[in-house]
Amino acid sequence: MEEKPVRLDPWASAVKLEYDKLFRYFGIKPFQEVLPRVSQVFGDPLHLMRRGVIFGHRDYDKILEAYKSGERVALVTGFMPSGKFHFGHKMVADQIIYYQKLGFEIFIVIADAEAYAVRKLDRKKVIEIGLYEYVANLIALGLEKNKHTHIYFQTNYEKPYYRLIQMFSRKITMAEMEAIYGDLEPGKVVAALTQAADILHPQLEYFGGFKYVVVPVGADQDPHIRFTRDIADRFENELGLRRPASTYHRFQTGLDGNKMSSSRPDYTIFLSDPVDVAVRKLKRALTGGRATVEEQRRLGGVPENCTIYEFYVYHLLQDDRELARIYSECKEGRLLCGPDKQYAAELLAKFLEEHQRRLEKARDRVLDYVEPPEF
Ligand code: SF4
Repeated sequence: MEEKPVRLDPWASAVKLEYDKLFRYFGIKPFQEVLPRVSQVFGDPLHLMRRGVIFGHRDYDKILEAYKSGERVALVTGFMPSGKFHFGHKMVADQIIYYQKLGFEIFIVIADAEAYAVRKLDRKKVIEIGLYEYVANLIALGLEKNKHTHIYFQTNYEKPYYRLIQMFSRKITMAEMEAIYGDLEPGKVVAALTQAADILHPQLEYFGGFKYVVVPVGADQDPHIRFTRDIADRFENELGLRRPASTYHRFQTGLDGNKMSSSRPDYTIFLSDPVDVAVRKLKRALTGGRATVEEQRRLGGVPENCTIYEFYVYHLLQDDRELARIYSECKEGRLLCGPDKQYAAELLAKFLEEHQRRLEKARDRVLDYVEPPEF
């Protein structure tokens, strides 16, 4: 049977992806191939790298080479402030902090223009969420304030950044954009051009000159990467821009097995959820357990289809041996979902209690990190 072509929509809220198709259709390479080199160049890989949550890349080998030879390297990433900060966002935060510790320059965009134009949200609300959810949670998770870390709102930045958005519009046609994104309305055209400026502006002289850039994204965001790489090619001579590298991570699954998203609060755990609420949500989560205890003992569970196990892999367990123990005991039917959920709930509660203590203090410090737009 002929395989249906794949088109990714970076603005869709719940995308189900078959990750292997991304390798075939879009030329994304398996991250496993560069993992040994990551250990040599960076030292310990991030747990998300080791465990295959970060599964793909484009040109990551160039980032490793640049870092190894002492050239300047930067990470660019962004958050759309359209809802509360959840564990899917934490996965990106963990990557930011990992690269910050390695000495990368960090650029974090709060995509308020996009939230206003594409998600049709109220400006005041968007700014508030950007500050007190996104920036505050990043600080609470360990983002340091230093001269190599830049956080900005899309509507409140330096002039050369806006100049890029204008310039990019000249060398791209609607047909090319629609080939990447599908049907487009004006808000999405501007959002795509703005994202390209977000990713490429750190290379301008005004922002310190050329540096190698890596962008960690969820796989559904690849259209922005492909679009931006095309633009970089077209402005190589005029502005000296080069293609960014990218990495791709799996989605955090919602507690019902679909995508975790702020718009589905019952199936999403927010880092500001009261601990008892978060624990209640977790205890209702879909597992890879069998219909009866007897079956589970006989056949074992299916951790690959279990949202609790995914929480261990992504967030709750740093120790690989402990993770391996849970995996094998589940598979062999020696672990049952009831007690295992209780264990996960205890780890979650401990994490949230500590995080929320830091979050409260972080909220008083957000204005040290970023200047919000006036309106
Ligand atoms: S025992 Fe744990 S890991 Fe296994 S299916 Fe149940 S909840 Fe998931």
